[in-house]
Amino acid sequence: MSVHMRPALQKLGKSLRSLRSGRSLHVWTSNGWVLRNQAITHSKRSVPVLDIHRGFNFFSSGKAKKLQSLVPEYIVRPEYAMSGEPAEPESDEPRLYDAQEIVRARYAARLARKMLDFANSLAMQPGKYTTNEIDELTREEIIKNGAYPSPLNYRGFPKSICTSVNEVVCHGIPDDRTVQRGDMVSIDISLFVDGFHGDNCGTVLCGGASDSESDRRAQRLIDATAESLQRAIDVCRPGACISDVGAVIGNVAEAHGFNVVQEFCGHGTGELLHMPPFVRHFKNNVRVPMQPGMVFTIEPILVEGSRRMHVWRDGWSAATLDGGRGAQFEHEVLITEDGCEVLTVPE
Ligand code: MN
Repeated sequence: MSVHMRPALQKLGKSLRSLRSGRSLHVWTSNGWVLRNQAITHSKRSVPVLDIHRGFNFFSSGKAKKLQSLVPEYIVRPEYAMSGEPAEPESDEPRLYDAQEIVRARYAARLARKMLDFANSLAMQPGKYTTNEIDELTREEIIKNGAYPSPLNYRGFPKSICTSVNEVVCHGIPDDRTVQRGDMVSIDISLFVDGFHGDNCGTVLCGGASDSESDRRAQRLIDATAESLQRAIDVCRPGACISDVGAVIGNVAEAHGFNVVQEFCGHGTGELLHMPPFVRHFKNNVRVPMQPGMVFTIEPILVEGSRRMHVWRDGWSAATLDGGRGAQFEHEVLITEDGCEVLTVPE
């Protein structure tokens, strides 16, 4: 799952102007959230770059109990499973994991990859499954492996996985629509096992690409997004900056004639689903150096048309305003002594 930077800002209204000025600022909202302006510089055109979390709170204990009844009691849950409120990271600094923690992070990441491959295999079959059915089948598979599906009740998210179809580019809520041939389906799987979250996502074209102009364009978008992620991974090593990731992705997208969505960012992960560092997928000046032991996601979303977004009234589904399709790929990367290791790989 990605971190959404915008909704809390909209709620803040007046504070937005001072945040944009680029001064360091702490803001307490009525719900007690602290918003920190981490940006170092802003050009006039840049969006505010903030390490904030989503600003919605859909807490209802009845709903939480109902959601939790989907997961057997023996499964160990993350801290927000009942409350819906994830813990704040202890520090603004990225965590550096030790060798034993890395073993656990790697295990969670690889299991998340296995579950993503499973979900994608369902989404590839035209006319066979609704996204609700993919959600249920994947949740059962996650539970069979002793893990908790991280999105379930994360800030009130009502399902176990995110399924984002066509113009919905991320955080789509599974529903009763059947996946059809030619649908571009992005599935995001995150899970919690042995105290660690694993997180990854990918996009498939249901039924595979036909010769139609629409399918060929879809395939180009998918390939360009995967390429942008791979090229970003290629620059990850000790001493590189988190901002290098955004620069590479921006360049690859531009070379292919696609746009990058700016409202969602990658993130540190592990003990918490979302923690520092926050990883922008477009050119930026956040000079956080990569260090051995850091684990973070890179999860670019490329769109075929305008990058302007809106969030549906369900409070989650992020869709393009012009109806253009979007593709997203996400890997978890560990910075090692001499480069990096992609954790979300098949066994
Ligand atoms: Mn993520």
